[in-house]
Amino acid sequence: THFGFQTVAEALKEQKVAGVFSSVASSYDTMNDFMSLGIHRLWKDHFVRNLNPGRNPLTSPPSSPSEPQGWNILDIAGGTGDIAFRMLDHASTINNDAHTTVTVADINPDMLAEGRKRSLATPYARSPRLKFIEANAEKLDMIPDSSVDLYTVAFGIRNFTHKDVALREAYRVLKPGGVFACLEFSKVNNPLFDAVYKRWSFSAIPLIGQLVAGDRDSYQYLVESIERFPSQEEFRDMIKEAGFLVPGQGWEDLSLGIAAIHKGVKP
Ligand code: SAM
Repeated sequence: THFGFQTVAEALKEQKVAGVFSSVASSYDTMNDFMSLGIHRLWKDHFVRNLNPGRNPLTSPPSSPSEPQGWNILDIAGGTGDIAFRMLDHASTINNDAHTTVTVADINPDMLAEGRKRSLATPYARSPRLKFIEANAEKLDMIPDSSVDLYTVAFGIRNFTHKDVALREAYRVLKPGGVFACLEFSKVNNPLFDAVYKRWSFSAIPLIGQLVAGDRDSYQYLVESIERFPSQEEFRDMIKEAGFLVPGQGWEDLSLGIAAIHKGVKP
């Protein structure tokens, strides 16, 4: 890669990730439910509530007519729209904000197609507040510098080939004061529970994948990608290295560290 080439291993990883998500696109919820015992829905609710997306016109009206009335949110690896729909719902119902927009970016056209299909059952279908674009998190050329208020990535970054490059792109597209927020599987912080969890993920999940979705390999990949992902501390340091300010210890563990939320602020 020093010479601008992709190594064979990197190209294979990208192909493999593409294959995994194309084959799970339509059974995506089932997959997430098995991976997290259904808890991913609660983690996603918490992630969005905690970010409190949107601009309440009563408590923070724009100070000049040229100031945007809502947030510009970029949901990277947004897949089937899970996070995007929740953010628009939160902005509208909690913050009375009818202006916040979410761009869902994903590298996989099959996941985006599933997201578009699902958006038809939401109030945001055909609304200018919701956009789907095909893009690689490592190369967001279509997104201008310093243009985004909130960058979210949920259960996506562990699949990226160059996480450091994606973090630098996140930094580039965010406005000063803008927030990077990541929800991802992480490291369990209790040894006893970790033993149970590892047993569940390494033996049960691929088997269930085979029985339910007829796809052992994709589920095996997903379990391995979680195992390979950096620890909470290591990932926090990567966020800092990309230039972000990290509030507090830098992350919040969910369900004993099965997942974690990391945040960074662009100074
Ligand atoms: N954010 C959604 C959620 O929480 O339900 C989807 C998460 S899904 C497990 C991971 C997504 O990452 C897939 O849709 C996949 O296509 C996408 N992805 C993988 N590598 C990517 C990359 N380099 N750039 C953008 N998206 C990527």
